[in-house]
Amino acid sequence: MKIVDRIRQNRPMLSFEVFPPKTESTFSSVHAAVERICALAPDFMSVTYGAAGFTSRYSLALAEQVKSHGVTPLAHLTCVNMTRDSVREMLGAMQAAGVENVMALRGDLPEGRQPPEELAHAADLVREIRAFGGFCIGGACYPEGHVESRSRSEDVRYLKEKVDAGLDFLTTQMFFSNDVFYQFLYRIREAGITVPVVAGIMPVTNAAQIARICALSGTYLPERFKRIVDRFGENPAAMRQAGIVYAAEQMVDLYSNGVTAVHVYSMNKPDVAAAIASALSEIAGR
Ligand code: FAD
Repeated sequence: MKIVDRIRQNRPMLSFEVFPPKTESTFSSVHAAVERICALAPDFMSVTYGAAGFTSRYSLALAEQVKSHGVTPLAHLTCVNMTRDSVREMLGAMQAAGVENVMALRGDLPEGRQPPEELAHAADLVREIRAFGGFCIGGACYPEGHVESRSRSEDVRYLKEKVDAGLDFLTTQMFFSNDVFYQFLYRIREAGITVPVVAGIMPVTNAAQIARICALSGTYLPERFKRIVDRFGENPAAMRQAGIVYAAEQMVDLYSNGVTAVHVYSMNKPDVAAAIASALSEIAGR
């Protein structure tokens, strides 16, 4: 199924994310995680793509595995380390495997590297996929602005260009304050961006993870969340539980405000995905 068609049904959605292993030796543990997350019957499952390229061969294999469990895969694809030819080759392989949904990303640039020449921005990749034909295309957006952007208004201007290049929907970077998301929605709608926006939620299950994420992405941490980390950060089991409850509360607020498409950055953790699915079983119609 094309993900945009499911989003337009306007019923609460729940989807999860997995990332491919870096080495062959860990492939089986990721396979097992995928199987357990698929058993939760999410509306779709995204499979990330290593911009540096070394995990790329596993991405399609995982997307195929997701499909074999009867769940719609969303295969990510990045510009970094790709040429127009290699993109077309990958799209052909995806199509042959029955993958209909692709997330078009630039990818994080390795330190000191300039954007790739042929496909400098995600918008270039979107145009390439649109020209290839047959795919529902998603793209990334950043409620707090992308780290490289000089201003939020510049970010929204480039986002509009990317959407106009042929995106069907957007998925946000994680955020921990729903107000940040609602304000972002208001700004982009005012700028004429009308495609559906999937809200990205990350259940933070350990204190080190949150410090790393915020340092990398500049994500705002509300005081309420900081207090949770201060209080439970040293107690892994309590921190994990508090992180799951916090994410579930964010999701309840989104659903109750009419945001039906919510994506969970479940990071190959079936137990976290299961806890979220169970907490929202009635609300998200599981
Ligand atoms: P772009 O849309 O190209 O934007 C990147 C920057 O360039 C922004 O600052 C933008 O404002 C600016 N820009 C855009 N167009 C122009 C232009 N014409 N001229 C000048 N500046 C411009 N990374 C991975 O490696 N693999 C993944 O699987 C992956 N999945 C992701 C999923 C989601 C939902 C999100 C939010 C991010 C994901 N990322 C992934 C991270 C992403 O690759 C990085 O955030 C990357 O730095 C930007 O990618 P983008 O697609 O948003 O790029």
